[in-house]
Amino acid sequence: MTDFLSTGTLPEHYRDLALTVRDFANQVVAPVAAKHDAEHSFPYEVVAGMARMGLFGLPFPEEYGGMGGDYFALCLALEELGKIDQSVAITLEAGVSLGAMPIYRFGDEKQKQEWLPRLASGQNLGAFGLTEAGAGSDAGGTRTTAAEDGDSWVINGNKQFITNSGTDITALITVTAVTGQVGGKKEISTILVPADTSGFTAEPAYNKVGWNASDTHPLTFTDVRVPKENLLGERGRGYANFLRILDEGRIAIAALSVGAAQGCVDECVRYAGEREAFGKTIGSNQAIAFKIARMEARAHTARTAYYDAAALMLSGKPFKKQASIAKLVASEAAMDNSRDATQIFGGYGFMNEYPVARHYRDSKILEIGEGTTEVQLMLIGRELGL
Ligand SMILES: Cc1cc2nc3c(=O)[nH]c(=O)nc-3n(C[C@H](O)[C@H](O)[C@H](O)COP(=O)(O)OP(=O)(O)OC[C@H]3O[C@@H](n4cnc5c(N)ncnc54)[C@H](O)[C@@H]3O)c2cc1C
Repeated sequence: MTDFLSTGTLPEHYRDLALTVRDFANQVVAPVAAKHDAEHSFPYEVVAGMARMGLFGLPFPEEYGGMGGDYFALCLALEELGKIDQSVAITLEAGVSLGAMPIYRFGDEKQKQEWLPRLASGQNLGAFGLTEAGAGSDAGGTRTTAAEDGDSWVINGNKQFITNSGTDITALITVTAVTGQVGGKKEISTILVPADTSGFTAEPAYNKVGWNASDTHPLTFTDVRVPKENLLGERGRGYANFLRILDEGRIAIAALSVGAAQGCVDECVRYAGEREAFGKTIGSNQAIAFKIARMEARAHTARTAYYDAAALMLSGKPFKKQASIAKLVASEAAMDNSRDATQIFGGYGFMNEYPVARHYRDSKILEIGEGTTEVQLMLIGRELGL
């Protein structure tokens, strides 16, 4: 089978990175993926391995402890990890694009020096708390407040569904909070909350349909007091800054989704060539071959969509529409491919320990997190002037 990395499309340094992460995913992640999924346990040993490889620092400059790479390098790593284990991939995606990137993009020099080396090394994880019970797609519904009190912000409220927020190595939660009213509208700002701050609680983890080995909690903030200097970026720009972070994050989620879609193809090509029914391999039936061909086409077109969005972003051009298109088609490719793969595996596809069954459970959230399918359609429509 011709693999995309062997087509020569990518410059050598990107291809070498992807192949290195692929080896790691096959040798270190794959053997423990089913166990962590079944036990709903956070894969600390895998995360430590990714940290040693420098994956958490991929898009950050060396002066902040990063690898001096770029966002596309991160995407390639996410695609390779996403093929094998989406929980591991989302831990990296959220750690970098939601945990560390807001500080790199909007932090002052002191905040960058304090937090980025820890987050880029993977020694610690950062989380981003935007979503609340009444603020998901409509993030403007934020109710959490941050009141000024002398030299401090005092934060009260709740966040929900926050990734990487309750692990033993979580060091920081960045939260959006209402800091006042401007022209009758909420002023939303972003504030850094160290995880050991009194009054902050990561409540017991959710029991999810998938992404079982990734860490997701509701959070409670009760009179959480942090210094005024923990404001991240300009006061009142919290919402706008977060939208920029989400635009980038959509390319990363698309890459992860392409990994899932391709992982399903790879599993099916192997299985359909081995499994026999009616005296021949099931793959020799055109009905199965066509299904797998369509799966390959979905993965490939979704990959070109995220490559395109990443190329625009890295060259400093507008990329909002392309990022939404990539997220839309890649998450749908992952969901469609995992459903088809489960069908091709027959009864085995319904057994939790099989990778395609895990992809089937894991892929649904790709159409929901970091902007639902409907939100992507809204954004694309807006870019078209509708
Ligand atoms: C496992 C997991 C991890 C997550 N990690 C994080 C995290 O780290 N940080 C964080 O802040 N959040 C996180 N989230 C939250 C996630 O981003 C939200 O769940 C998502 O944005 C959707 O918001 P909601 O759940 O409130 O759904 P809602 O916004 O209530 O949407 C419900 C449904 O209505 C649709 N809808 C809403 N408005 C419209 C409209 N105008 N037109 C058409 N349809 C519409 C939506 O598309 C959706 O289908 C996570 C969620 C999960 C499940």
